[in-house]
Amino acid sequence: MRRRITALVAGAFLSTVLTSVVLAEAPLQPQNEAPAISKEAQVLNGTVLTLAKALQQKEIAHDKDLPESTLALATSDGQIFLIVKDEGSRALFKDRELHARPVQLVAVTIPGSQLLKVERIRTLVDGELREVDYWCEKCALRYSEPGICICCGAQAERRELPVKKTENTKPAP
Ligand SMILES: [Zn+2]
Repeated sequence: MRRRITALVAGAFLSTVLTSVVLAEAPLQPQNEAPAISKEAQVLNGTVLTLAKALQQKEIAHDKDLPESTLALATSDGQIFLIVKDEGSRALFKDRELHARPVQLVAVTIPGSQLLKVERIRTLVDGELREVDYWCEKCALRYSEPGICICCGAQAERRELPVKKTENTKPAP
């Protein structure tokens, strides 16, 4: 019995280790097009930064051990929103070059909170709004975040393409 329990525990541990190894190295899933924008989504202009930096900007004292992995959007009208890490926002967590530069997030605010579920990440280049995605030139595959191309194993590179005219580009009210 004891041996069986040990085997079960070892098996569970091993599968956890294997899962995390697989997850860490898993190539990205390509996305031909970004998913549709929800009706509730708003357009928010500002900059992405860590929560620690957002608090510093507001001169709010805080402990030094705030994780670097907690990101916020500081909007141009002085609000701070926390960004929920998920498929829509993951690029902001993996590609720190998107921080501290003007961005526009199309996002749903979770009711009763200042939490953002991001649906589009846009940058401003020479005053023009650009849609951010990641591209493998060799395979012509589009991804929503940086990482390894599922087809050739190369790193997908950031693209910033002009926003389609049909997309929601209205400035925040
Ligand atoms: Zn590729």
